[in-house]
Amino acid sequence: MEIPKFLIERYQFWKKNTFEDYKNIYDQAYKTTQKPIAMIITCCDSRILENSIFGGNVGDYFIHRNIANIVPSINDKENNIPTLSAIEYALKVLKIPNLIILGHSNCGGVEYSYKTFKDKKNLNNFEYISKWVSCLDIPFNKIPKDITENEKITFLEQENIKQSIENLYEYDFINKLIIEKKLNVIGLWYQINSGLIKFLDKQNSFIDLD
Ligand SMILES: [Zn+2]
Repeated sequence: MEIPKFLIERYQFWKKNTFEDYKNIYDQAYKTTQKPIAMIITCCDSRILENSIFGGNVGDYFIHRNIANIVPSINDKENNIPTLSAIEYALKVLKIPNLIILGHSNCGGVEYSYKTFKDKKNLNNFEYISKWVSCLDIPFNKIPKDITENEKITFLEQENIKQSIENLYEYDFINKLIIEKKLNVIGLWYQINSGLIKFLDKQNSFIDLD
């Protein structure tokens, strides 16, 4: 195994510069337990820089990433363990008061799910991804027929966020915290090229954040 040059160079730069600048914050973080202000569930996509977008510092955000930022249903026993483990720790141990589902434009996972459902076959023979994105069956069935292909995929990206939030309510420990107003659930959709973020309002519609 070889450590790539880019990794060494970038690490050394970070250690000499960023780490030095924030040394006290890192030291403080080491001495105290973490107390994040929000949990963010987002996609594995490398273009989502949630700490940059929301000005995250050490200890601010508890992050869980999976393909297409999905919270599987309680009935989906084969898929829900990794995401629910992260949520369970965030809510029961860290008692994080905000849970953000951050979806995004140009999501390869959502697009793959869309095409798989549409053509009714596993296009690339992805052994694991096709099983994972099959979680999106309910949102897929809500796609309007009279819109363009791109609009359908965007619709599915946003409907997936709504469905993931709905799925959260199925878990008693999460539902209880929401009812008791100890947990605020936030749905966001981020457009990569424009930087626009839309949030899910009380009417369950996506509205521009700025
Ligand atoms: Zn994605």
